[in-house]
Parts: sequence; structure tokens; C-alpha cells
Amino acid sequence: MSGGFDCDVLIVGGGPTGVTLASLLARHGVGVIVAEKEADIFPLPRAAHIDHEGMRILQEAGAAEAVMATSRSADAYEFRNARGKVLMAFSGAAGIGPGGWPVANMIHQPSVEAALRAALAGRAPDALRSGWEMHSFAEDAAGVTATFATPQGERTLRARYLVGADGARSPVRKACGITFEDLGFEEPWLVVDVLVDDPARLPTANLQICDPARPTTCVLMGEGRHRWEFMILPGETPEQVSAPANVERLLAPWNVAGAVRIERTAVYTFRARIAQNWRQGRVLLAGDAAHQTPPFAGQGMCSGLRDAANLAWKLAAVTKGEADDTLLDTYQPERAPNLRATIDMAIMMGRMVCTTSRRGAWMRDAKLGLAKALGKLPDGPPAYPPLSAGAILAGTPGAGSYFPQFTGTAGERLDDALGEGFWLIDRRDTATARLGPFGADIARWLAAHGAEAVLVRPDRYVFGTGTAAALEKAWAARLSGA
Ligand SMILES: Cc1cc2nc3c(=O)[nH]c(=O)nc-3n(C[C@H](O)[C@H](O)[C@H](O)COP(=O)(O)OP(=O)(O)OC[C@H]3O[C@@H](n4cnc5c(N)ncnc54)[C@H](O)[C@@H]3O)c2cc1C
Repeated sequence: MSGGFDCDVLIVGGGPTGVTLASLLARHGVGVIVAEKEADIFPLPRAAHIDHEGMRILQEAGAAEAVMATSRSADAYEFRNARGKVLMAFSGAAGIGPGGWPVANMIHQPSVEAALRAALAGRAPDALRSGWEMHSFAEDAAGVTATFATPQGERTLRARYLVGADGARSPVRKACGITFEDLGFEEPWLVVDVLVDDPARLPTANLQICDPARPTTCVLMGEGRHRWEFMILPGETPEQVSAPANVERLLAPWNVAGAVRIERTAVYTFRARIAQNWRQGRVLLAGDAAHQTPPFAGQGMCSGLRDAANLAWKLAAVTKGEADDTLLDTYQPERAPNLRATIDMAIMMGRMVCTTSRRGAWMRDAKLGLAKALGKLPDGPPAYPPLSAGAILAGTPGAGSYFPQFTGTAGERLDDALGEGFWLIDRRDTATARLGPFGADIARWLAAHGAEAVLVRPDRYVFGTGTAAALEKAWAARLSGA
């Protein structure tokens, strides 16, 4: 690589966010290195759920089919009170969402990460440097130089941009002096993951048991696994709660002795925090390094994947000289409102579950009963807000909205047919062979927005609508920063 650079983009952290970003960048032809301090994938499960939009990003990253092969659908996601009455329920998990994949998919995070690494190895065989721990970095006018402790001794790498995808404790974020905005949720929970020997004895729905005596979560994971989570109550210590005899006591009401084997127990403090700045010069933050959410909406990893999709095409355009560096300034204004909405949803769910006062639980049940009777409770997949600012042609119909991935009757998917990069689709194209089996759906989308043409960004959000000529001009202007 010219100019003394080892790569265009250096990613610190080989978790799901970092490896997805690397795979997307490699697809765009960008030179990328991912430095991961651990020798192997973190072996213990964390994320259990990925949504349809996350699956679409895995599709772009080349990992979706492998992930689907071991994922499962739950019948429903139910919030029940201590007496088993359903307070709120989300159905339709197996239906196809706007991303062109099932709405909710129960997964095993290490298997997802293995699929992502295999896909990256296929695109950029030498990109992942395992056992490389970043110690420091320094930025100058043209790039960033970072120093690593590696199994072969100290090494330095130089890149045009550095992305900290290095998790909640992010050394990159700390080195930048970036602090968190605390969104006011902090609850310690015990997580118990099990291997399943007799699936017939386990629930087929994901459950939140809103029992003030012991708020409890019970969810499916990928094939062969199940999870319980138990809130740690005031006065209890993590050690007491995770003692084997206590775990046995907590699982007793579920009557699963002999049907499951414990894989691990761990205590996590569920938090809601968002970094004040996601960009500082040539350094950007993504995934848990930039934000953390309680897991009740299953959105932490999904959010990191969305960060990766948002950043990948922008970093590709900037490093290839097709866009001005100011395009990267649109990253946080586009992603942060979406993030806040997912965190708000998770906190709303978390507060419903984490109520430990009987009176509070009684009032919650009454309020939800009324909302249910009035038809005011959410069902279906949560709808997060469209982009309202950033690299969009604001004011044109559909600008900033999520462009659906239409599927054909033989299971074909739009993104596979149209490929990477941005799409400029004119109404006249919908009757030609270029759009294959998707022409009619796209024609309907254009008609619903009263549009002659649409420009869809590489992360599949709509740049804007209008005439093809006007869209082309506005897109070029946006990329050049004019
Ligand atoms: C109990 C639980 C349940 C969850 N459930 C869900 C769910 O259902 N759905 C969902 O979407 N999300 C869920 N999450 C959240 C999800 O696990 C995280 O959001 C996700 O792992 C974040 O990915 P990441 O790549 O940003 O960070 P991480 O996975 O934390 O990866 C960061 C990587 O950076 C590496 N690193 C750190 N420092 C350095 C350094 N100095 N040099 C090099 N490498 C470094 C680390 O070793 C690590 O591999 C859950 C989390 C928990 C704890």
C-alpha cells in the first residue's frame, strides 16, 4: 500500500461489529486490518437474538446463510405477570421483515462470530490479526499510527482511519477522552446458559416473567441452547446468587432438571449509555464502544451491525477519493437517534420487568391491562425511526426511510440481484429485466411515494426520491461535500 500505509482502515476489536465492518469494507475493495487482542472468539454466549435488518447486514457480510443454518424462531415474545397472565406480547417472529429475513432469529453469538470470520477470511485472508492488543495510537494530518503487543513482539500499523470497535471498555474511546451520556438504567442480572438435551420440556416462546419477587427472563438461543436470566435483588451479592445450589433453586420452578445442562453462569450489569462523540478526527467508534443497551429488546449487537453498515460505505467512498471526509460527520447524526429509540424501547421493557415492589407491579398490570383493552400496546416488529439528518435529500418523499429487501417467489433476494453500491432506480426500469422478479414491488414502492425514481444508499437507506437526473446531481453534491 502506498504512502507508508499498511491499510486504509484499521479496526481495533474483532467482535461482531469489527469483523462485520471489515467484511463490508473488503467487499468495497478497501484495504482493512482488524486487530483483536484475544487469540480466539470469545466463547461464551452473549447475544441471543438478531433481527431481520441485522440478518440483511450479515447477508452483505457473506455470513447470513451460515447463521440461519443454526438459528431458530420463537413462537412469541411474551411479558407475563407473576400469575402467568400475558401483559404484552410480540408475535410474528418467523414472518419476513422489511430486511427480507425472519423478523426475529434466536442465535448463538460465538457461532455468528465464527460465520463472520469465515466470510472475512474468504474476502481478505490476512485481514484478521488475532492476539494483537492495541496499546496506543497517535494521529497526524494524514493518518493514524497504532502500536500493538503481538505474539511476535511489538508491532506498529499505519492507516488513514482507525475504528474503535473494541467493546464497552473501549481503550480507543478512553484514549480519546470521550465520555458517556448515562441514560439512567443500571441493573445487575445473573445469566444462566444451558445446553438442551430434551427440547420438548422447554418453552417455545421467549418469556419475561414480571414477578416482583424475582424478575426473570427465559429465551431460546441458537440450536441446542436456552437461556435464563434472573435479576439480582437489593441486598443480594453476585456470589450468593450464582452459587450452584442457588442456581438450582432458581431453575426449580421451570422443571427442567435432567432436560438441560448448565453451560455457564455469569453476572452482567445491564446499562444504557451512549458516547458523547462517535468521531474524533480520524478515529471513529462503533458498536459497544459507542453505546450500550440493556438486552431486553435484543438490540446491542444488532446496533453494532447497523453502525458497521452505516460506516462501511462512507469510509469506502472517502478512502477511494470518491467523497469528501465530511461525509464521515454524518455517521453520528444518522445513527444516534436510531440508537436512542432502540435504547428507549429496551428501557421501557426493562422497567416493566425489573419492578420489585408489589404495589408497583399491581399498578403496572392495571395500566397495561387498560392499554391492551384500548389496543394501544405494540405488537409485530418494533419500528425504529427513519434517518432524519445526514446524507439524505431531506424533504423528498421517503428520504431517510429503510428500503425493503423484496424477495422473489423462489426465495431470491433483491440485494443479491442488484449487488453492492448505491442503486438509482427509475420507474421505467421496473418493467425491464434489470430488476428481475422485483420490478412490481419496486414499482409499487415508487407509486406509494409518488416518485419517478429513488436513490438507495449502499446501506439500503433511501437517499431521496425525484427524477433520476436530479438525484444523481444531489448525490454527487452530497459526496463532494458541496
Ligand atoms: C447477557 C447479554 C445478552 C445480550 N443479548 C443480546 C441480544 O439478544 N441481541 C443483541 O443484538 N445483542 C445482545 N447483547 C449485546 C451484544 O453481545 C454486544 O452488543 C456485542 O457483543 C457488541 O459487539 P462489539 O463487536 O461492538 O463488541 P465486543 O463483542 O465486546 O467486541 C469487542 C472486541 O474488542 C476486543 N478488544 C478490546 N480491547 C482491545 C485492544 N486493546 N486491542 C485489540 N482488541 C481489543 C475484545 O477482545 C473484543 O473481542 C447481549 C449482551 C449480553 C451481555
